[in-house]
This record gives sequence, C-alpha cells and structure tokens, in this order.
Amino acid sequence: MKILRAEYLGMCFGVRDAIELAVHEAAAQPLTILGDLVHNETVLAQLRSRGIQFQNEAAAVATRRVMITAHGASDCKLTDTRNRGLQVIEATCPLVQLAHRSLKALVDEGFHPVIIGQREHVEVRGMTEDLEQFDVVLAEPEIARLPERPRFGVMAQTTQPIDKVRRLAQALRERFPAAEVRFVDTVCQPTKQRQNAAVELAKQSDAVVVIGGKNSNNTHELVKTCAQFCERVFHVQTAAELRRDWFRTDDVIGITAGTSTPDQIITGVEQRLHEFDAAQNSIARTEETLNYCKWIEHFKRNKQNRPEPDWAAPVNIPSGVLAPLLRSVEQFRLGDGGGPASLIAFNREKFRSRTEELRQIVDLWFAEEAEHARLLGCAVRRFGGRIITSHWSFTAFCLCRRVLGVSFELQVLTLTELVSTGYYRMLRKHSPDGPLAAMCELILRDEAGHVAFQRDRLLSAGCPRPGMRGGWWRLQFLFCGYAAGTVLWISHARGLKAIGGTRSEFYSEITRQMTRFIRSLGKQPKPTRVPAQWAQPQSAQLQLAK
Ligand code: SF4
Repeated sequence: MKILRAEYLGMCFGVRDAIELAVHEAAAQPLTILGDLVHNETVLAQLRSRGIQFQNEAAAVATRRVMITAHGASDCKLTDTRNRGLQVIEATCPLVQLAHRSLKALVDEGFHPVIIGQREHVEVRGMTEDLEQFDVVLAEPEIARLPERPRFGVMAQTTQPIDKVRRLAQALRERFPAAEVRFVDTVCQPTKQRQNAAVELAKQSDAVVVIGGKNSNNTHELVKTCAQFCERVFHVQTAAELRRDWFRTDDVIGITAGTSTPDQIITGVEQRLHEFDAAQNSIARTEETLNYCKWIEHFKRNKQNRPEPDWAAPVNIPSGVLAPLLRSVEQFRLGDGGGPASLIAFNREKFRSRTEELRQIVDLWFAEEAEHARLLGCAVRRFGGRIITSHWSFTAFCLCRRVLGVSFELQVLTLTELVSTGYYRMLRKHSPDGPLAAMCELILRDEAGHVAFQRDRLLSAGCPRPGMRGGWWRLQFLFCGYAAGTVLWISHARGLKAIGGTRSEFYSEITRQMTRFIRSLGKQPKPTRVPAQWAQPQSAQLQLAK
C-alpha cells in the first residue's frame, strides 16, 4: 500500500484565521458565532469546548458579542445585528470580501448579477441578500430557464470548481448571444489549488480518501472531481470512518481534504491507513510463511519417497521406435537438467534471496528438477544414447525466458511445467518400456506439485488480478502456452509419433492442463486455506496436473 498526499489539501488561510480570531476573542469575553464557522464537526466541537456558542439568528444570541464567519454576511444582516445592540466581530475571509466588491461593481455598472453557486449556501446568501434582482445557477438547465437581459454579470461562490464556472459562463454567452456577458473569476486561489491537486492525485491513485465535513461544499466538489479520474473515492469526516475492506494491499491511496479540515484530522487518517497497511502486510506475511511451510513439507516428503525405476530390466523396443524416442528423451533431459544457461539457474539466486522459507523450497524444488535430469539420464544410457549439452529448441527457450525477464517468471515457469506435463503424460501412456513409464509416473507426481506451488505463488503475487481472469490474462497465458507447446511438439514430434502419439492428442493434452490450471486460479482467489492443506498435503490441490 502506498499513500500519497495531494500537493495542496486541507485548511485554507481564511478558515484558519477565522478560527484563531474566534479562540482569541472568546478568551477575552463570551462570544456567539452566527452560523457554522466551518463545515467541520470536529472543529466546531473543539470551539464549543472553549465556551463559544453558536446561533443561526441574531435574535437568539445571548452574548453581547457575535462573530460573522469566514463566509461573510450581507450589509443588511450586519446592520440588523448591530441594531440589536450586538457588537459584531467580522471574520469574513478577504477573498469573500473581494467577491462582494466584484459583485457590487457589476451591479453598479448595470449588469444583471448571475451567481454560480448554491442558492442556500451562507456565502451566497451573504452576497445576494442586499440585491433586488439576481439569479443563482448551479447547472446548465437553470441557465436555459433565465430570461433574456441586455447585460449579465457572472461570478461564482468562492468554492466552486473553476472549470464548471467557466463552462456555465460560456453556456450563458451561447444562450444569449446578443447580450453583453462579463465574467469575473471569484473562485479563490486555495480552492483552485486543491481542485487541481486533487485531479493530479486521483490520476495516480487506485483509491482516494477525501476528508471533510458532510456539509462542506468544497469537500463535496473535491469528491466529485476525484470521481472523474478514480473509481474508488471515499468521503470521510475522520479516521474513525475508514474501513479496512475498502483498500487492497497493493493500492496507491491518495489523500485530499476540504478547506475546513484541520491538519490533525488529515494526519489521523494517514496514520490509520498506515496501520491498515501494517496489518495487511502482517497477515500476508503469516499466510506466506504458512504456505511456504506447507511446501517445504511437501518437497521433503517427495524426497523421501522416490521409487527408482528398474533400469536393469532388458530393453525390448524395435529400433525404428527406439532411435526417435531416444532423441526425444536426450533433448528433454537437457531442459530438465538445468545447466548454466537455464532459467532455473538464471533466477535461482533471486528466488533464494527472498526469505529463509523460500530459499529452502527453491533448493528442494530445484533438487527435484535435478533428480528428473538424473532419471532421464538413466533412460538415455539405458537406450544406449549420449548426454547432449545443446539443442536449438533449448537455446531458443532459454533466450525467450531471459528476454521475458523475472516479471514474467512465474507464468513462464508455470507454462513450462504444464507443457512438460503434457509431454510426460503422452510418454507414460504410449511408452514401450516399463522403466520409462515408471519414470514418467514419478516425474508427473513431482510436476503436479510444482504446478500447484506455482499457482500459490501466482495468487500470492496478485495474478491474475480480479477482472483479468476471463479476458486478456487468460488469452496471453494460453497464447504463450501454445507457443511453448508448439516448440516442444516440433522438436519431439518424431519421438512421440514413433511410440503412437498424435499431434491432436498432444494439443488436447496441453489444452487440458492449461484450462484446468486457469480454472483452479478462479476457484481459490487467495491461499487462505493453508492450515487444512498443510495438515493434508496430498489433497486434490496437489493432484492438479495428474
Ligand atoms: S475557501 Fe477560499 S474564500 Fe473560503 S475561506 Fe478559504 S480562502 Fe477564503
């Protein structure tokens, strides 16, 4: 889990100054604030705890002094409040004052004011209560309902998204092409910064947490903006509302916050996300360790139970069959034998360096591969062949594995095991030789374990991700499998045909292995059934490729 903070987020200077002023004034004399100083319950609770009272109407104020919030108030409301004998302390944000002055200038010049914002928002009411005529719009349909006027003066509530404001101003121009439309940008700079930063954040994130009050207009706008660029957007007021199941272990999580959200709430949310991350990592580590332990047991058990084929038994195979069969076995030994050029050797140290458990498994697993090479070597010698050290198909295969690299490693290794399983099953079925068939039986048992082990590793690595199973990942997996299978068929066709195998049989065999494997991924989204399997390691899971 990676956690990103938006470049600009949280409390703006206007709200911060208003809170500081309220605290300062309340320390001197009792104070009532008219309306919500900020749209944030946590901050309001802190202010109440300092003895500050809140009222919506001047008539209900019981203290001698009242404070006007950062959202500002109309002149008529200020006058009415003073006429009641109350001392007014103004905490109106300078950028809201600037919006009031811009509005007055438009009206003085004869423009009909159109304010883009929420009609009932305290800031908009503060702007409009002194006006005789005005319109407030929030979307295109409201513009369509406006009557024609010769001159429109357009401005906005300070916390509206600037893109939306510009779009609506343009819509007004298009609706009344003959009218003079003057637009004054009154959206405040902190809002613009937070909106732009939220866009950048949402583009980089798998999930975004927007922190702010449920009644906060600018927080709602941040939620809407983020939702345009990110599918999972969560609006919370505090860390307590966060839920662990909203997030995945490998998520990039963005954090942004409205202009009335205090720093300590943002920090609390960030800390809580880090706690989720630590808890999920710990669960994943435990599962991984348990899983690894299961595989250590499995490979150790295989090691102790390896019945040797009766290589001393007489060979009774016609020469026309033996020669191509021998070529095939010689080549296959090369692949299973590893050697300095093989993928196994190429990545062995990388696997081993991960954890102690994985190091043990990799050593045991690769020891099985080496044992397969030894068995194939025995078969080669039994048929009077030689131990070859190179073949074009093996060189091509190693090259592909290196080009594909470690990121593709799990899938490539898995496909190799599946295609090999197809080969050994055909060899076992048609083998004209008893010890060779017994060898195939033993190797197939091992390969089934390798495939199941690779499946666990693929699932632990989050592959295929949800949504990929039926689509692109499956196609890619099948395509690579058929490509590897075709290389194998071309280089082993003579040997397999000599013992009675056919091409269609080979392709249906590898198709069966790959589709069973893909289905098994869908059946078990995460390796959480580990304890039961550990207790019973020869479960159906280990029989996958058989
Ligand atoms: S959001 Fe903008 S206008 Fe409103 S208080 Fe903050 S800085 Fe001032």
